[in-house]
Amino acid sequence: MLDLHGLTRDEIRVQFSRWRLSPVHADRLWYHLYLRCAASFDAMDDLPARVRARLAAEATLGPPRVAREMHSSDGFTRKFLLALAGAGQPVVETVLMRFTGRVTACLSSQAGCAMGCVFCATGQMGFQRNLTAGEIVAQAVHVARALQPRRDDDPQSRLRNIVLMGMGEPLLNYDAVMRAVEIMRDTAGFALGSDRITLSTVGIVPGIIRLASEPRPVHLAVSLHAATQEERAALVPPARKWPLDELMRACRHYSERTGRRIFYEWTLIEGKNDRESDARAVGRLLKGTRAQVNLIPLNPTAGYGGAPAGREAARHFQKILADEFALPSTVRQRRGIDIAAGCGQLAGAAGV
Ligand code: SAH
Ligand code: SF4
Repeated sequence: MLDLHGLTRDEIRVQFSRWRLSPVHADRLWYHLYLRCAASFDAMDDLPARVRARLAAEATLGPPRVAREMHSSDGFTRKFLLALAGAGQPVVETVLMRFTGRVTACLSSQAGCAMGCVFCATGQMGFQRNLTAGEIVAQAVHVARALQPRRDDDPQSRLRNIVLMGMGEPLLNYDAVMRAVEIMRDTAGFALGSDRITLSTVGIVPGIIRLASEPRPVHLAVSLHAATQEERAALVPPARKWPLDELMRACRHYSERTGRRIFYEWTLIEGKNDRESDARAVGRLLKGTRAQVNLIPLNPTAGYGGAPAGREAARHFQKILADEFALPSTVRQRRGIDIAAGCGQLAGAAGV
């Protein structure tokens, strides 16, 4: 069976021509997939019955089964647990967030994660499997559908941004992730251009180098968390394989090649990496590069006991970066913590 959400518009056209069906119908299918976010072939009521019958016989159409949906008391965040097919019945989490009038979907790229970052619930659960491109796109479709009815005069009814910051390490599932990006960028569909998609990596050096010459560009966020090799390796085990100096070399290459600024994520843990000396160390590391630092006060997870940095410490950290190193930074708003939808809290079925 063909998974329609995993195919580009061109591939759907090629498939239609193999079936001796008109390209007009292929384009209509695309419209139903991404502008109407159709949940069934029957809902595609302007496609001739024979086209729908062919699709029903040979193709599948998400939507992933929603095992559970949760609404945060903050009124801005919803989390969906989506049940995937296959052994072990993997469950992934997708988060819908509203920030100042725009809607962002946080998508998962893997069920679980093999990287084992100590403070991350996904890392604490271990790795199940890579998602297919169709499973990644279907998460965005699910969020877009949850926003319906879509109204042109209401920007909040439209999916505007994608962050690949959910469960898993996207650069270890490179081909599926970039295929999903291509499908979501299509101007006749979601039309999410390069500025609307951000991918966050724990620091997979070969993936960053490959991304530097990617014809389907995205914003890049790199999880740094510490400014020395030793401290970083204690928080982020893959730093043993891809040490800090190699990572920074890859980041410089990426910036030079693309002209793009890199976002560096820094999970702020009280007493561990929120001190003045830490701010100066990251300042020295990034000074003169095109960088923005995203500070994320630690969110609670079952397997890690640290405490988040306080508001004052975060502000002080920012001030040092700005005043001494001219580095812009933001502090991530804490959202969806009551439903474990914050950064690093996604644990699939284990978190229910
Ligand atoms: N695997 C990718 C993307 C998913 S995690 C990566 O690691 O970058 C998204 C961000 O949340 C990362 O910067 C990660 O380090 C951070 N994070 C993980 N656990 C966290 C926690 N408990 N509190 C705050 N941020 C966390
Ligand atoms: Fe994986 Fe990212 Fe969590 Fe690390 S922080 S375990 S790389 S999802």
